[in-house]
Amino acid sequence: MRAGQSSIYDTIIIGAGWAGAAAARELSSKGRKVLVLEARDRVGGRAKTWSKDGINVDVGCSWIHGYKEGNPARTIAKDLGVVAHLPKAAEGVIYGPDGKSSRTAMRED
Ligand SMILES: Cc1cc2nc3c(=O)[nH]c(=O)nc-3n(C[C@H](O)[C@H](O)[C@H](O)COP(=O)(O)OP(=O)(O)OC[C@H]3O[C@@H](n4cnc5c(N)ncnc54)[C@H](O)[C@@H]3O)c2cc1C
Repeated sequence: MRAGQSSIYDTIIIGAGWAGAAAARELSSKGRKVLVLEARDRVGGRAKTWSKDGINVDVGCSWIHGYKEGNPARTIAKDLGVVAHLPKAAEGVIYGPDGKSSRTAMRED
C-alpha cells in the first residue's frame, strides 16, 4: 500500500487465483473498493503459462469446461481479449487392461 492511500476496503480477498481475480473483477465493476492479497510473487494461482522462445505452454489450467453451456469464464476471456475457441473433435483411442484398444471415442470439449 502506498502512502496516502486509504486502508478502508469493502472487501479483502485472499489469493489472486482465478476465484480471487474473478471476485475482485466483479466487485470492482460494481464500484466496491477491493484489496487482493497474494502470497506468491505472481498472480494466477494454478493458472500459469510457461513461455520460452515464443512458445507458450499452459502448465496449469487451459480448458474452459462448459464453454458452450455458458461458463462465465468464456465471457471474461472474450472481454480480456483472450483467444478461446472450441477445438475440433479428435479421435481418441481407449486401451483396456490387456493393452488392446477397447473402443474409439470422440472428444468434444
Ligand atoms: C495441471 C492443472 C491443470 C488444470 N486444468 C484445468 C483446465 O483445463 N480447466 C479448468 O477449468 N481447471 C483446470 N485446473 C484446475 C484449475 O486450475 C483450478 O480449479 C483453478 O485455477 C483454481 O483457482 P482458485 O482461484 O480457486 O485457486 P488457486 O488458483 O489455487 O489460487 C489460490 C491463490 O491463493 C493464494 N493463496 C493461498 N493461500 C494464501 C494466503 N494465506 N495468503 C495469500 N494468498 C494465498 C495462492 O498463492 C494462489 O495464488 C487445472 C489444475 C491443474 C493443477
